[in-house]
Amino acid sequence: MSKVVVVTGAGGVLCSTIAMAFAEEGHKVAVLDLKLDAAEEVANMIKSKGGDAIGVMADVLNEESLKKAKEEVNKTFGSCDILVNGAGGNHPLGTTSNPYLNIEDLENTTEGFKTFFDLDPEGIKFVFNLNFIGTLLPTQIFAKDMIGKKGCSILNISSMNAFTPLTKIPAYSGAKAAVSNFTQWLAVHLAKVGVRVNALAPGFFLTDQNRTLLTNEDGSLTQRGQQIINQTPMERYGEPEDLISTTMYLCDEKSSFVTGVVIPIDGGFSAYSGV
Ligand code: NAD
Repeated sequence: MSKVVVVTGAGGVLCSTIAMAFAEEGHKVAVLDLKLDAAEEVANMIKSKGGDAIGVMADVLNEESLKKAKEEVNKTFGSCDILVNGAGGNHPLGTTSNPYLNIEDLENTTEGFKTFFDLDPEGIKFVFNLNFIGTLLPTQIFAKDMIGKKGCSILNISSMNAFTPLTKIPAYSGAKAAVSNFTQWLAVHLAKVGVRVNALAPGFFLTDQNRTLLTNEDGSLTQRGQQIINQTPMERYGEPEDLISTTMYLCDEKSSFVTGVVIPIDGGFSAYSGV
């Protein structure tokens, strides 16, 4: 049965693929993004392949913007059945320059060099807001459509960081841990009104948000980029398409007893001890 699917951050690399996959399954897809041009480009791509989609500007941190987006979705497609909270990301101001603190780092005056002690609370707040509030707020707005209907679900996007924090990115790790925790909390809270809540925990996918951390200008892997491959038993980065089958499984009505789970899609990264 065709559903109304709302995907936030769907102008981006991973969630545009997820949005297109829902359209290919015959669902009506509202492609939401802060960047209207990116949202419209994805919606047009879906329509050019015969799918049903609209591109809508929505800031996941702004209630008014989300309410306007919801009005547009409701007017065009009807009420929302599935919400994918895809918008998220990291910020350089919440990132240390080195994985470990060395004594000499405290004397380093290179412009832009940051130890833990230099992290800017504004950067940390940006990352917490984007990932956590940016998941909570769209859920408050769109999940109201789901109450009392059958077959509705919410899919959040967590990360490997949520299980064990990665070095250098304490804000992003903490924020994604909050997303995983919230996924479980909300699954319990909405269990009696029939709305399921689950999450994907993608491993490592080369996208705009991490390209400079993982690749050099010539396209070769940075030390960190290579370290990830060494820690991934399948010895590769994920492709956005790797997320599709789990997304469909979690959002399918047939998964009616599955709620509150966070599924790693990581080529074995989280299962591997490194030895
Ligand atoms: P991306 O940067 O390609 O896409 C993110 C999209 O979110 C962009 O189109 C951006 O415009 C949009 N966005 C940013 N701020 C917004 C706001 N306030 N309101 C609405 N939209 C906003 O990133 P991606 O790699 O496709 O990431 C998608 C999700 O997957 C994110 O939640 C990310 O944290 C998560 N994730 C990514 C990886 C990875 O390796 N790339 C791994 C684990 C989890």
